[in-house]
Amino acid sequence: MQRWPVLLFLAWVCFLFFAGIGLFMSGFLLTRIELASSSSCSDPLVPPPWERQSLPPGSCWAPQRFSKAVLVIIDALRFEFAHFNPAKASPLPFENKLSFLYHLATSQPHHARLYRFRADPPTATMQRIKGLTTGSLPTFIDVGSNFATYAIQEDNLLAQLVQNGRRVVFMGDDTWEGLFPKKFFRSYFFPSFNVKDLHTVDDGILQHLYPTVDSGEWDVLIAHFLGVDHCGHKHGPDHPEMAKKLTQMNEMLRALVDHLGNDTLLLVAGDHGMTETGDHGGDSEKEVNAALFVYSKTPLFGTGPPEEPEAVPQVNLVPTVALLLGVPIPYSNIGEVMAELFSGDGDAVSAALKQLSVYHINAKQVDRFLHSYSLVAQDLPAEQLQRLQELFTDAVKEHTQLLAQVQEVTLVPPELQSRLRSLISRFQLYLREARAVCTQSWARFHPLRMVGGCTLIAASCLLCYVASELAVASDSFYRSCLLYPLLWGLVVALLVGLAHAFMPEGLDLLLVLSWAAAASQLGFFWHWWGRHPKRARLAGSQPPLPSIGLRQRLRAHWDGRLTVPEGPKQQQLLGFSSYRREIWYLLCLVAVLLVCVRLSGFFHQCREEIPQCRPSLFLSPLASLRNTRAKNLFYLLCVALLAGLVYAVRSWLRHYGNLNSSDPLVLFVRWGFPLVVLCIACYWAVASSADDSLGKLQELVQVAVVAFPWAVYGLASVGLLLLLCNPMTVFAKDTRESAGSIVTPYLGVPSSEVDFLHVIPQIYKRMQESQKSRLERGSCKATVAAYGLGSVYSAALVIALTLLGFLLMLLHSERLSLAFLLLFLEAFVLLHIHTHARGLAGDAEPFSVPWYAVISWLLAASQFFYSTGHQPIFPAIHWNAAFVGFHLDHSTNLLPAVLVGANTFASHILFAVGCPLLLLWPFVCETSSSQKRKPKKETREEQQEAEEHMMEMRLRESPEKFSTALLQLGLKYLFVLGTQLLACVCAAMILRRHLMVWKVFAPKFLFESLGFVVSSICLLLGISLVMRVDCAVSTWFSQLQFR
Ligand SMILES: [Zn+2]
Ligand SMILES: [Zn+2]
Repeated sequence: MQRWPVLLFLAWVCFLFFAGIGLFMSGFLLTRIELASSSSCSDPLVPPPWERQSLPPGSCWAPQRFSKAVLVIIDALRFEFAHFNPAKASPLPFENKLSFLYHLATSQPHHARLYRFRADPPTATMQRIKGLTTGSLPTFIDVGSNFATYAIQEDNLLAQLVQNGRRVVFMGDDTWEGLFPKKFFRSYFFPSFNVKDLHTVDDGILQHLYPTVDSGEWDVLIAHFLGVDHCGHKHGPDHPEMAKKLTQMNEMLRALVDHLGNDTLLLVAGDHGMTETGDHGGDSEKEVNAALFVYSKTPLFGTGPPEEPEAVPQVNLVPTVALLLGVPIPYSNIGEVMAELFSGDGDAVSAALKQLSVYHINAKQVDRFLHSYSLVAQDLPAEQLQRLQELFTDAVKEHTQLLAQVQEVTLVPPELQSRLRSLISRFQLYLREARAVCTQSWARFHPLRMVGGCTLIAASCLLCYVASELAVASDSFYRSCLLYPLLWGLVVALLVGLAHAFMPEGLDLLLVLSWAAAASQLGFFWHWWGRHPKRARLAGSQPPLPSIGLRQRLRAHWDGRLTVPEGPKQQQLLGFSSYRREIWYLLCLVAVLLVCVRLSGFFHQCREEIPQCRPSLFLSPLASLRNTRAKNLFYLLCVALLAGLVYAVRSWLRHYGNLNSSDPLVLFVRWGFPLVVLCIACYWAVASSADDSLGKLQELVQVAVVAFPWAVYGLASVGLLLLLCNPMTVFAKDTRESAGSIVTPYLGVPSSEVDFLHVIPQIYKRMQESQKSRLERGSCKATVAAYGLGSVYSAALVIALTLLGFLLMLLHSERLSLAFLLLFLEAFVLLHIHTHARGLAGDAEPFSVPWYAVISWLLAASQFFYSTGHQPIFPAIHWNAAFVGFHLDHSTNLLPAVLVGANTFASHILFAVGCPLLLLWPFVCETSSSQKRKPKKETREEQQEAEEHMMEMRLRESPEKFSTALLQLGLKYLFVLGTQLLACVCAAMILRRHLMVWKVFAPKFLFESLGFVVSSICLLLGISLVMRVDCAVSTWFSQLQFR
């Protein structure tokens, strides 16, 4: 048997997929690390002491200019919507509707101004709100301390306002509720999900807006209107509805301005724009081009407006508003202050000095952020950071010099002004370059990488398919389809690696690996193509032969050899009545399968997009159950079912004679399994008991809650180790002295409970040969009966799966163990259906698992992902799993990640490890079907048949075919898994502009790719386990020989 080539081949295919996933992810998932630090009033960021002393009360970092602010966010307010062009004769529905803004800007040029407000991609509302409050560039994954909520963990404007005692009132889009839980002094949330609904949110806001403004019980008021965005999604911008909506907004602003006081700053902003179809999410010009309008009743600007509205990055709003309101700039802000708002009404020099002081604060804050960010993450290039550092130091030095000169009055106006201007532009340069550096690494899709990753995955799928059709047991197959491609890959990796090493950017490991993967794939297809024409010619030249059996077909092998597949022999003998019985049996199995599928629906989790959905009651832990009676009943049910599982597994093993030996593993199954169940039951009992009712026992409970899971972990590890050390569950009875023949099908009862029908003695042919050779050497006749040899592979897998099942059940809440039992039952039923369907079809090659079996197996894996209470969204992850057996402290992140990962991908793990059962099961079931027919057979045949009852030893009989079958099975599994992944990747790539991309498609892609990684690794483990058993069986036979 070729073990290493098979494992290597599968590992190589997995690597190809991983490279594709990695490449796609690097182009699609924008990542960034969230820092936990936050700014505070006492930060020593502002050095000149005279500035600090002059700060009025209530101000931090800079003097407060406004005591109140109103931020009106009109979702998806594109710049063109807000811009007014009086020259336009026939405006489109979205043009020239916000005439009031134009009126303010022209009638009071020192009070109002319109800007182009440049949004950073991804232009999805949630990411934009994050950007507008943190001053940073939110990516899809902001790796922070907590994935469980959408709440913003980073320092942000709202947190600063609340920290400094400002009352923040919010009304509108309920996305804010999730992002800033319990931050608002008062709030009116309205549902944002239904994009077909244009009015609920806006009308709700209008109802509360003016009374709230008039009441004066607020310092900052945020109103987030959604109508324009929803109108875009529903009708597109070029629609009469949009005109109505914008006119409504215009009236709202007109009325709002009437209600504002002199000390209030009004900001009207769009969070992003929209495309011609009304969508957003990507980085096209129309999506990133939003509008910002600034207004106050006291003069804001020292100069009149520029000809063409200035473009301002969205993040710039954060430091500007923070300093205008006299609160610290949020820690992670990379925006630049809009300095013209700080110039005041003095002369040019004093205005420039004021601007310089805010630039100075801003630059210091950005410098501090870049410094702490580069300490925790390496994604910002070091050279550029170095350059930024130099820019910053120079500007600060000159600022200090200049201030000293200004105080000594050594500079005269014209020179002073030019010095001031040049210094301002140096600060600007620093801040802009810093932002550009961050943008480059955080906020860009890489279309080339996305396409590359997608292509790699698609090609890997194709490769799986081709290889699974090609795979044959010959050295030349592995040489041409594994060795040469691997060499190609290595050579290209070396070349690309060398080329990269000489380039200034340094080595990009991911790119090197991707090139290597692509090259080795090319190598594979190249060698395949070399053989391909031969196959076609030979297959075509053979004349079609008449069919032999009723359901037997001829099959052309790739190399042109024509063979009659050997179907299990009993199939030809099946009579009509037994045929009917088989069909009925199959139908019953299908019915059970359907019941399982239906029942598994009771364990679903909800997505937030479906508000009427109620999550399954079974998901909550028993401890949360108030009703003691129900709690006890559920507890007993769970424990009983767990015991039932152990009973079922043990009786299955006993049935096939795998429970007779006295090996440590078998002893473990006999005694360790009940012990594990006992520990789990105790853990559940302790964990679900009410905490307060125990009084003095509290400390004991604390210990027990940790001790029992550890006992389970320990026992399960012992079991798995035993399985690895000696996976043989075979009991050999050596009766050489007494017996008279070489082959003894049955030798009697090895232990009292094993009855005749249930013990299948097996002897392997090689064994016979060796015995023969010994006979020839003149020794006495010898026989050996081996109990459980026929199911030795499956037994090891079943034991491993049961142990894994225990571990995974422990990580889930108590009542989900019911779902796991359903999972085991459904897997069992699927295996039986597969076996019987094959038996009925009769034309199947025994060593090849049909596609439908693999597909149904994988579908079941996906089904139980959902039926164990999971959903592909972050808030649905079961975080409690990280604390099974731990108090609330973890020194590293690895262990909780493993625990949560195992919990999330439980069904992937079980089905992938159990995948080889698809190949083994028909062999295991061989006996039971032939037992039934025994009475019909003649005695002479019976002897023959006894030799035929090889069960899984049939696989060992042709080791080359066995290894090829495992390879084929693995490839088919990876192909189906890869196809699922490919669909998700394509969805994420094509729909990257979709409204829901960051809520639906990107998380789905992430879960799917993680699931792929977990599944493929577990698949390799399952196949390795089979091979380990094969090794052990070989050793066992060789030991027998020398006994
Ligand atoms: Zn939006
Ligand atoms: Zn939208």
